[in-house]
Amino acid sequence: MGRSQGSRRRKLLVAAGVTVAIVLTVASAAAVGLRMNAGGSHQAGTAQPDRPSEESRVVSPIPASPPAQSVIPPGRARISVPLLEYHYVRVNPDPRDRLGFQLSVTPGDFAGQMDKLAGGGYHPIVMADLRAYFLAREPLPARPVVLTFDDGYVDFFQVAYPILKKHGFKAVAYVVPGFFGRPGYMTAAQVQQLDDSGIVEIGSHTVNHPDLTKLQPGPLDVQLQASRATLEQLLGHPVVDFCYPSGRLNAQVVAAVAAAGYQTATTEQPGTEHSWPDRLAWTRVRVDGGERISDFFARLRTPEPADVSTLRSPTAIPGPSGSSVSP
Ligand SMILES: [Zn+2]
Repeated sequence: MGRSQGSRRRKLLVAAGVTVAIVLTVASAAAVGLRMNAGGSHQAGTAQPDRPSEESRVVSPIPASPPAQSVIPPGRARISVPLLEYHYVRVNPDPRDRLGFQLSVTPGDFAGQMDKLAGGGYHPIVMADLRAYFLAREPLPARPVVLTFDDGYVDFFQVAYPILKKHGFKAVAYVVPGFFGRPGYMTAAQVQQLDDSGIVEIGSHTVNHPDLTKLQPGPLDVQLQASRATLEQLLGHPVVDFCYPSGRLNAQVVAAVAAAGYQTATTEQPGTEHSWPDRLAWTRVRVDGGERISDFFARLRTPEPADVSTLRSPTAIPGPSGSSVSP
């Protein structure tokens, strides 16, 4: 991506320092309970952002999708795009751990799912592509799907990423900077490598995964802003996509997410239809461990109709060059 190794290394060192400082700050300021498990179904409030005003700039370190044979033409206010929600890609280590089992898609099942997506003409895209669709009137490839991975587990890097790379599939990793380098989690260097790959978009999943609905305004803002700032320092470009820990949100949390500068945010509410006004409460489709491939396909629902006649060359999404990084 044209950045020198030396500059990258310096950036990494700076980022590591920032991360430590932020984690310490949050630990003392927030004293939040760590909700490590990402499970449970939550009937969180489906508060929606009430202002359509947005940063009109589209940011992404990831190249636009290659031209498709058919496309979803821009201009539709509401489109069906399944945002698949993964956690672990592993064999669940404890057979008695039902939640762990449910959250763990085996490497074999995951590879099979990716093969089926490829064979079925699906095109994995990222949030930058959805932002470009709604904001910049760029088309989407036919049968778009977003593969999201929560929590920054190391098996994403070790198991899922090589499979994605084999297919040239894009994916979104929602990472938790306060957990970088802990056992079972990716390191900052691995996250940086994913970002450099051009196929993985990094989003924030807070500093240390608290239940945001239980935080006072100060600690809430720290979780949203410090995680974003840490990732931007590490990666050297804006980070504008967010995922609510354990899908917990309410109107105050959504307002804080908007104020922190995020352009999209995903929940654990089920659904596949998305519009720009509800971009801070986008629904997802959870992929459960042990799910049969027929069930997997059924949950993708009916694909958004594509249109062959409107084929045109997708314009590259403006990259991070020249865009400023928040402090
Ligand atoms: Zn999570």
